[in-house]
Amino acid sequence: MPDVDLQSTSVAIAAVTAAADVCQSVATRMAKQDALEKGDRSPVTVADFASQYVVATQLAATGLPLLAEEDAHEFLAAPAELQTRVCEAVASHDAAPSAKEIAAALGNGREAGQGDRYWVLDPIDGTKGFLRDGQYAIALALIEHGKVVLGLLGCPRWDAGRLFGTDEGEAWTAPMEAPTQRQPIRVAGEREARLVESVESGHSDHSASARVAEALDLKVEPMRMDSQAKYAAVACGEADIYLRLPTRADYREKVWDHAAGLAVVEAAGGKVTDVDGKPLDFTHGRTLAQNRGIVATSNANGLHDRVLSAVKEALLGR
Ligand code: AMP
Ligand code: MG
Repeated sequence: MPDVDLQSTSVAIAAVTAAADVCQSVATRMAKQDALEKGDRSPVTVADFASQYVVATQLAATGLPLLAEEDAHEFLAAPAELQTRVCEAVASHDAAPSAKEIAAALGNGREAGQGDRYWVLDPIDGTKGFLRDGQYAIALALIEHGKVVLGLLGCPRWDAGRLFGTDEGEAWTAPMEAPTQRQPIRVAGEREARLVESVESGHSDHSASARVAEALDLKVEPMRMDSQAKYAAVACGEADIYLRLPTRADYREKVWDHAAGLAVVEAAGGKVTDVDGKPLDFTHGRTLAQNRGIVATSNANGLHDRVLSAVKEALLGR
């Protein structure tokens, strides 16, 4: 893995922890009108926009483009009251920016990221988890020539808030409030495998994963968790297999839902592919256009190939 300069790493950590702080404070004061449905019917909240604003403004120091989930267009189409709430939410981190300034910082990020080196951000991955007191993550990755060279997951509801990151190919975790107190993490060794999957059956086919679990003779009930915290669970040995089995033939995974998590799992010694065993291909802009679904495992004693065979059987005819 190429070296990532120290400045990028420390800016990324500062940006993610600041965004997590803003998200948690929005969560404690969440009102009904703070969430709305986007054009694609997925939810977005005051915290998604505020988080992206905080990360985008802090990353500006690196001079690199940002490919991120939210954009100025969705923000400006939101009710004025929600826009005002975003301005208020970021005011503690910035000198009370106007809605116009926020829109400018959010940018049209979705179209960026075609260069050789750029950031990828999901400002709140697992918005449904955020809304129901489940897991969510601020997921930030640095891509160079199609490879993820830095991954950082801020999981505000993992204990009292935890960071999971990569540094020169090694995975680490640290309390969010003390990012310098890093501890190395590794995937679990061979044991009774535990599976983790989305809470949302619309995001991963639960009946297909039950067939995989049966074929692999898994004894432990699957864990269900929102967001890329699932990758963190595999990376630190809380789970052994993360399955994301397509629910629709035409759905393409978004890069910001996987870039950071993939880096953390790989650096912790695990393996990540799509359901066909292909490496994730980050060279197609905002989607993983050449992949379908996700299989991430500890790969203890060749676990990955065994899971791929079971997945193939479970998805036969689809
Ligand atoms: P999770 O927390 O694992 O349920 O994943 C949340 C992410 O699922 C969101 O960030 C969406 O981008 C993504 N998503 C939305 N629709 C689908 C779908 N049909 N299949 C897979 N992922 C989806
Ligand atoms: Mg997401």
